[in-house]
Amino acid sequence: MTTTSSPGLATRAVHAGRDDFTDRGVHALPIDLSTTYPLADVEAGGAAYDHLSGGRPPETGDSYVYARLWNPTVAHFEAGIAALEGGSDAIAFASGMAATTALLMSRVAAGKPHVVAIRPLYGGTDHLLATGLLGTEVTYAREGEVASAITERTGLVFLESPGNPTLDLIDIAAVTRAAGGAPVVVDNTFATPVLQRPLEHGARVVLHSATKFLGGHGDAMGGVLVTDSETAATVRPIRAITGSILHPMGAYLLHRGLATLPIRVERQQRTAVAVAAALAEHPAIRRVMHPSRPGGDPLALVGRQMSGPGSILAFEMRDGYEAALAVAKRVHLITHAVSLGGVDTLIQHPAGLTHRPVASEAKPGPGILRLSVGLEDASDIIDDLVHAIE
Ligand SMILES: *Cc1c(COP(=O)(O)O)cnc(C)c1O
Repeated sequence: MTTTSSPGLATRAVHAGRDDFTDRGVHALPIDLSTTYPLADVEAGGAAYDHLSGGRPPETGDSYVYARLWNPTVAHFEAGIAALEGGSDAIAFASGMAATTALLMSRVAAGKPHVVAIRPLYGGTDHLLATGLLGTEVTYAREGEVASAITERTGLVFLESPGNPTLDLIDIAAVTRAAGGAPVVVDNTFATPVLQRPLEHGARVVLHSATKFLGGHGDAMGGVLVTDSETAATVRPIRAITGSILHPMGAYLLHRGLATLPIRVERQQRTAVAVAAALAEHPAIRRVMHPSRPGGDPLALVGRQMSGPGSILAFEMRDGYEAALAVAKRVHLITHAVSLGGVDTLIQHPAGLTHRPVASEAKPGPGILRLSVGLEDASDIIDDLVHAIE
């Protein structure tokens, strides 16, 4: 390249994590399925083992020793997502929950087991924190209560924006200020780096369920943390020890997904705005939750923190639970299934499914359905919903 300015997001999405392809004479990302790697001799192998199990990237010429420690296909996906989020390092896991687990364990290991969490959170995250399974202690706080919830044992402030499933937006910079020095992790699964880059607003760590938008086709499970090198060095050894590295087939699919991420997110978002507007007109619907709707962005974060409202929305049926169940059952084009962020539109009932393990005081309302808007024509999605509602 002859230009010195840093490339735009769409360019990075296509090219990041491909830097060495020309030198290696390849055009598609090679999938390295080796579970073990030849060693030059015992001492060189031992040195490489120490290096990798300690959480550092391999040095040139080093053996990768064993696939639980390092995988070059995974490393290409990590380079790609790090470039999109603007972080120096990324660590990829077998799932989003595996990423969350490793991050929480790293804080417990550092002697900082207290987590301040802002609800609503993904049901699995809420459940993991509420049970204290990993030795964490949680204080659930509202955005304005973060400063007073921090103690000297606080190792992490956990938030999600937009929140799951009600699309609440949280001011990341304000939470970072309130957290003092405590690291803030933002689950950026709903927004993706196309719409929001939390590290630019002071977050220490970005978390993704890569299973969702990053892969984008509903056929690869993964999770990833993006952060600075120092924080990454505290998490990588945990991935190696606990064995939660992403599979190389998954890494291939997730890396491929990055290339079309900006175009998918933008198109799905445009359709979601149209679907949200159409649903808001329907007499059977009490309210539509989407940052594009009046009252959906009370802190005016769209434009300041997020470049658009995204493509996940929720709506509440006026007749409550039974009406919501009937809609989920009667859709045809739309699939009734959990998960989100793929090319096809999905609908699900958060209180009954994704947020089932969440305590009743934090559970979404019984009449609420969550919609992940895909790449179909907006008119077909709207027709299917209207037909299911009526
Ligand atoms: C799905 C999801 C997770 C968990 O990720 P998995 O890949 O299913 O383990 C975490 N956060 C959000 C917002 C999610 O949607």
